[in-house]
Amino acid sequence: YADIMKVDGYVGNFRARIRKNPRYVIAEKCTGCGECRDACPIEYPNYADMNLGVRKAISPPFGQAVPLTHTINRDYCIECYKCIDACGARQAINFDQKPEEVEVDVGAIIVSIGYDMYNPQDLEWTGYGKYLNVFTALEFERLILAAGPTGGKVVRASDGQKPHSVAFVQCVGSRDINKYEYCSSFCCMYTLKHAVMLKEKYRDAIDVYVFYNDMRSNFKGYEEFFNRAQKNGVKFIRVKLEDRRITEDPATGNLTVSAETEDGRPVSAQVEMAVLANAAIPHHTAHELAEILKIPLNKDGFFVECQPKIRPTDTEVPGIFLAGACQGLKDIPYSVAHGSAAAAQAAAVLNRGTWVVEPLVAKVNEDLCSGCRICESACGYNAISVAKVGDKDLAKVVEGLCRGCGICSSACPMDAITMPNYSDKQIVAQVQAAVEKVEKA
Ligand SMILES: Cc1cc2nc3c(=O)[nH]c(=O)nc-3n(C[C@H](O)[C@H](O)[C@H](O)COP(=O)(O)OP(=O)(O)OC[C@H]3O[C@@H](n4cnc5c(N)ncnc54)[C@H](O)[C@@H]3O)c2cc1C
Ligand code: SF4
Ligand code: SF4
Repeated sequence: YADIMKVDGYVGNFRARIRKNPRYVIAEKCTGCGECRDACPIEYPNYADMNLGVRKAISPPFGQAVPLTHTINRDYCIECYKCIDACGARQAINFDQKPEEVEVDVGAIIVSIGYDMYNPQDLEWTGYGKYLNVFTALEFERLILAAGPTGGKVVRASDGQKPHSVAFVQCVGSRDINKYEYCSSFCCMYTLKHAVMLKEKYRDAIDVYVFYNDMRSNFKGYEEFFNRAQKNGVKFIRVKLEDRRITEDPATGNLTVSAETEDGRPVSAQVEMAVLANAAIPHHTAHELAEILKIPLNKDGFFVECQPKIRPTDTEVPGIFLAGACQGLKDIPYSVAHGSAAAAQAAAVLNRGTWVVEPLVAKVNEDLCSGCRICESACGYNAISVAKVGDKDLAKVVEGLCRGCGICSSACPMDAITMPNYSDKQIVAQVQAAVEKVEKA
């Protein structure tokens, strides 16, 4: 329940400024018993259930949160203080809590902020937001989950009835050059999961269709799961991603999903519910965090690893690692593997007494430096800063942060910064040697 505000320093020596937001509950005293929640009279839409259910003004962030510390949402709380009475001798509730800024020294940082889901309301053909019985995959996930708002009962929003037919529509926003060009990677498998769950729960009482273009079941055991869905009677309809449409019969709330097969034949299914596999997208805080940590995002907005094959958890900044879907969409087994690797790398940093940096770091000639600060603003890694030395302002390089990119060197108007092995003299000599070779040839 905190926001990261600023990070200074370098591998082994980071200092992070963190704003702890008030929960109005003292975490150390809260046992997670939930008695305050039972006493609270106020309910509001539960974001952890995709707003399909309600939560109390005092509640844990979500059912399986660790720790189960409760939090008061002051936007909804009416200050009746029934929670204080319910909490009793534990005295865990404190309405006077304020935001608090703390600084912590850490040796390594792991970025694991996951992803967000695209709201398909602007894809008019889906009818999402217009037709009550069109759901997103995450909404459906909450519906079918035993711990969800309906206790695991799949029901329509229009009449609260169990549907007798459901169509899953794949690649909604993903693999679409006008939206998100990339494949969201896990939708095929979670759709198979949802389809199999429906079939195993309701058997012949339900017809299940999957409108898909490619079924990407390409890891251990996944193809077998696809086969299981087919054996269970799920009907797979392979269609083009263009020209799909969902329409509604307003009298019944029933839907027609129509599309075209790859050879141009029109296909459709009349169903009582439709579920969209909407694109997974970069987390909305990714951009801000990338700026704070000075690590890059790719064109889609996911964090960039140092090298995709052999250094998939490293960032360009030593000591900052990536874990899970924030680096690129991946399902749980692969997120766990990635996270474990990042944790092992962070542990390796913490266990090292010293850190060997690349020798290619910028060098400042103090006699030439005028302290103009141009290098300071040019450096993308906060690796060079100007400070008073005696009565002179001088640039100083933090070797642990310098990535040897040379931008400060080319920006300096005084020619006061050089890169070892890349001085102007050396580069000119190399160019001359290369030109001579070409002339001789
Ligand atoms: C409908 C649906 C069903 C799925 N079903 C399955 C399945 O059955 N099996 C499977 O393998 N995969 C499934 N997946 C995929 C699965 O959700 C991802 O693989 C997994 O969540 C990735 O884990 P993660 O830890 O990288 O990201 P997340 O699970 O997104 O976790 C990131 C966490 O970081 C927090 N966070 C974000 N920003 C910040 C910040 N700035 N500061 C602090 N915290 C922050 C978030 O609140 C979140 O708790 C499903 C996905 C969907 C959409
Ligand atoms: S605030 Fe008090 S009553 Fe509420 S969960 Fe925590 S310990 Fe229990
Ligand atoms: S004071 Fe607020 S959180 Fe506590 S019981 Fe009343 S409404 Fe709920």
